[in-house]
Amino acid sequence: MLPAAEPPATEARGHIALVGAGPGARDLLTLRAAQRLREADVIFYDRLVDPALLHLARTGARRVYVGKEVGRNAWPQAHIDRLIVAEARKGRRVVRLKSGDPSVFGRAAEEIAAARAAGIEPEIVPGITAASAAAAAIRVPLTERGETDCFAVTTGLCRPGDPAPDRSLLARPGTALAIYMGIGKAAEIEAAMLAAGAPAECPVDIVSCVSTGRERHASATLASLSETLRREALPGPAILFLRHPKSLSGRRAGGASRAA
Ligand code: SAH
Repeated sequence: MLPAAEPPATEARGHIALVGAGPGARDLLTLRAAQRLREADVIFYDRLVDPALLHLARTGARRVYVGKEVGRNAWPQAHIDRLIVAEARKGRRVVRLKSGDPSVFGRAAEEIAAARAAGIEPEIVPGITAASAAAAAIRVPLTERGETDCFAVTTGLCRPGDPAPDRSLLARPGTALAIYMGIGKAAEIEAAMLAAGAPAECPVDIVSCVSTGRERHASATLASLSETLRREALPGPAILFLRHPKSLSGRRAGGASRAA
C-alpha cells in the first residue's frame, strides 16, 4: 500500500481541506481528493469543477456552489473564507473543492490565511493543473531536453488595477509558458511577447475545456495567436501553451534578426 494520507487531527475544531479537483475529467481526480470528498460534511465548489465529482460525497453532505467566475466573483472571496471557517468551527469537515491544483491561480493563499487566523491548519490536496492536462491532451511535453530550460506558469488576468505581468523575461529562448486566463488577453499577450523579442514563429497551442467532452485544440504561432482565436472561436476555459525553443532562436541568430 502507498502511505495513507491521514487528515490532520483537528476534529474538535473541524477540518478544512483545499482540494484540487483536476482539470475536469472525473478520473483525473487523485485518490486522496476522492477520499476527502467521501469524508466531507460540507463541500464548497466553483464553476470550473465538474458537479459529477460531487457524487463521490455522502448523501448527507452539503454541497455549496460558490460560483466563482474568471475575473468576476459571484461570491466575494472574503465571504467564502468566512463560510469555510464558520463551518469548520462547528466541528465539520469542510472541503473547498477547486479546479486543477488549488495552489495555481486558485486564491488558496486567502483561504489558508483565513483558516490559520481561526486556529485551523488547513490541509492542501494537490490536483492536476490545467497546464499538465493540456500538454497531455495534445501530446506536447511541457519541457523538452535541450530545447526548454524554463517552464513558467503565468496569467492573462490580474487583480483589477494591477499592472499586466512583465513578460520581458518570459520571451527568452528556452522558455515554455502556460498562460492561464489568457484568451481574453491574447492580442495583448501576443503584442507584449513580440515586443519583448520572442520570435513570431514561436508555436502556441490553445487547448480549451481540457479533459471534458467539449475539449478543443488549435495550433498557431505567436504572430497568428489572436487571429487564430478569432477564427476558431475557442471557448474558455483555455490554456495558451507558448514555446520559445532554443533551436528557434538558433535559427533566428543565423537568419533575419528581429527587433528586441
Ligand atoms: N487552479 C486551476 C486554475 C484556475 S484559474 C488549475 O490548476 O488548473 C482558471 C483558468 O485555468 C482558466 O481560465 C483556464 O486558463 C485554466 N483552466 C482550468 N480548467 C481548464 C480546462 N479544463 N481546460 C483548459 N483550461 C483550464
